[in-house]
Amino acid sequence: MTIETLEIEGLSAPVSRIGLGTWAIGGWMWGGTDENESIAVIRRALDSGINLVDTAPVYGFGASEEIVGKALADGYRHKAIIATKVALEWRDGKVFRNSTPARIRQEIEDTLRRMRTDYIDLYQVHWPDALVSIEETAGVLDDLRKQGKVRALGVSNFSTAQMEAFRRVAPLSTAQPPYNLFERDIDGDVLPYVKQHGMVALAYGALCRGLLAGRIDVGTKFEGDDLRQGDPKFLAPRRAQYVAAVRALDAYARERFGKSVLSLAVRWVLDRGPTIALWGARRPAQLDGVEDVFGWHLDADAFRRIDSIVAEHIKDPVGPEFMAPPQRVLAA
Ligand code: NAP
Repeated sequence: MTIETLEIEGLSAPVSRIGLGTWAIGGWMWGGTDENESIAVIRRALDSGINLVDTAPVYGFGASEEIVGKALADGYRHKAIIATKVALEWRDGKVFRNSTPARIRQEIEDTLRRMRTDYIDLYQVHWPDALVSIEETAGVLDDLRKQGKVRALGVSNFSTAQMEAFRRVAPLSTAQPPYNLFERDIDGDVLPYVKQHGMVALAYGALCRGLLAGRIDVGTKFEGDDLRQGDPKFLAPRRAQYVAAVRALDAYARERFGKSVLSLAVRWVLDRGPTIALWGARRPAQLDGVEDVFGWHLDADAFRRIDSIVAEHIKDPVGPEFMAPPQRVLAA
């Protein structure tokens, strides 16, 4: 299998256009997870040519980074491009934004320890913190870059104006927005901005939290603290619209390309611009379809057909905004 790659400014090795997403591996908000399966899926990804592993301190309150660190021990670190994040804090299970210099300087040390490494390839601000200026945050991150603790800088969930402010102070290599064929807000601004400035977009939720993998039905139940219990796309009666759209997309993908809806959805992300699709997987078998994504492309007719299927079935669309963590509340 030949996995497509692209260059990210500041990184010396080409990066695979599929990145392994490890939020679910941390367990929190995904109904728990299994450490052995998690290590197996990370190693399976790296053995099959996916070199980008995306994680964050907040995923499982350190658990995801710890598990990625364990998986990368025993000779795997050199194969991996670690993308992790900074600037979300948690206390008593509650998450809030914190981009203060003190928080960032503490987090990088915690992350390096958890991940058993002395550098991070791509360090991304997880969510903008309205209480700290973007320029100040960019300055602290650039210091870490100059010290060699991180190699390249990225942001996630930033507007174009926020990216512009960041770029005035430090080189910005990537953006990480939500992006899939149901959630396309970035088409109007963030994606053109990324293209214009030679950056790369790491698209999160490329499978729309599993919907676009094609196995979720109107009756599928989610256990424990799984965020899909409250995701407005997964609630009745709207879920039926999304499930019907996925079925119609699957039928189209099979008839036109001989592929599943999962391959169609990932291909859609990759054919929109300088993108990497983050694929959240927590069991090795969930990566079985990776090879089907490469070696073909969507044409203008396919993009039109996908748009018309989505419009035909989804009368009441809703975005991923429910995932945004709150701002910090300063003590009076
Ligand atoms: P996703 O990739 O859209 O969906 C992941 C889920 O899809 C999996 O947990 C799995 O659900 C299902 N799935 C995956 N492969 C499958 C297969 N072959 N067959 C059937 N189902 C399959 O969702 P995501 O994890 O939210 O996003 C991906 C990554 O993006 C995250 O892990 C994280 O790294 C990043 N992210 C970043 C942000 C941010 O704010 N920067 C926000 C969200 C996500 P089950 O395991 O339940 O079956």
